[in-house]
Amino acid sequence: MMRMTLILSLLCSVVYLHPARVMAWGYQGHEVVGAIADELIKDNANASKQVHEILNSPLPSADEIKDQQDLLPSKSDLKLQQAGPWADCVKAVTHHDGDRFKYELDPNHPEYETPCIPFNSALERARMEDYVKHNWSAPDCTYQPLGFEQGCHNNYHFADVAIQRDSYDRSDLGTSSHDVVSAINAAIAVLTDQTPAPPFKIRDKKEALLLLTHFVGDLHQPLHVGAVYLDAQSGARVDPDAAHAIDPTTETAGGNSIKDENVVLHGEWDDIPFDLGLKATAELMTSARAVPADTTPMDGWAALWATDTLKVAQDAFNGLSFGPKGTDHKWPVSYGSPEKHMAYLHHMDEVKRQQLAKAGAHLAEILNTIWPKN
Ligand SMILES: [Zn+2]
Repeated sequence: MMRMTLILSLLCSVVYLHPARVMAWGYQGHEVVGAIADELIKDNANASKQVHEILNSPLPSADEIKDQQDLLPSKSDLKLQQAGPWADCVKAVTHHDGDRFKYELDPNHPEYETPCIPFNSALERARMEDYVKHNWSAPDCTYQPLGFEQGCHNNYHFADVAIQRDSYDRSDLGTSSHDVVSAINAAIAVLTDQTPAPPFKIRDKKEALLLLTHFVGDLHQPLHVGAVYLDAQSGARVDPDAAHAIDPTTETAGGNSIKDENVVLHGEWDDIPFDLGLKATAELMTSARAVPADTTPMDGWAALWATDTLKVAQDAFNGLSFGPKGTDHKWPVSYGSPEKHMAYLHHMDEVKRQQLAKAGAHLAEILNTIWPKN
């Protein structure tokens, strides 16, 4: 089992070396989170009805999309499970001269389309192009890990809070008005008939629900919230908040710049235990139903959950050490011994199950709060 997990991790990590796909649980994780929430809202007829109607509503307001109403699929039954990967599917939208945005499949990676098949109509692709266009550029929001602009919206998936901190606090470095906590609050705003704070441009409740489902998942992937910052020469940990500024040479990009041989640490954390498949297993549902309800107002939940995930990230980096940054701009990680490495992977597996269950429970908690039982 462990060996199989290792092999799968290696295989999947090859995919995750591709720079356009370096973020988020694999699509499997996002589908599982959605599937858990689908189950949890079943006993709330109001929330179930609203979610079904919103996800399957075919009426975006943009004129350029209205022109394509005739291309609507005749039958539509999207659930939160299928909604989960949407915010990664939009990464297939590329920017062309003249400010044109086009959904284009990567011929080298046809597998990227697998979770995006529910959105492969002309209408849904027009929605994705529209979303990327309107969330591409904003003041102080760039995303260019490869040296060229790839769109502000790529930042919505994560925060990079130094693991030396004990809570998610907007005054700390690595947080922003366009990080994953801000993104969840923006989606909640739209779903509760409010205007989202800039830079978010969310067309309608359907888009908000697609985004919410994805970002609540991301918020529970520990390396999407907690980050180590490393000295390039020595690999020693540094604290950006103590220096009151982030030195870009110390950024590990959520573990994308940390490698164990050919395995990227972020990718290892993105892959979910293969026995889970794409479903809300009985084991996950039991864990999800045991997640305690929040007693504070909903507008503070995303930050509270980020604090919880930050603590999980502290644990995820516990015991790891790093060598100097290599010519490939990555730091090698050391677990101490092969036995400790195996123990780490075993523990990682357990943590992933717990985090997926929490994410599903939290997504359902938001939906049950927005649309309480009648
Ligand atoms: Zn993501």
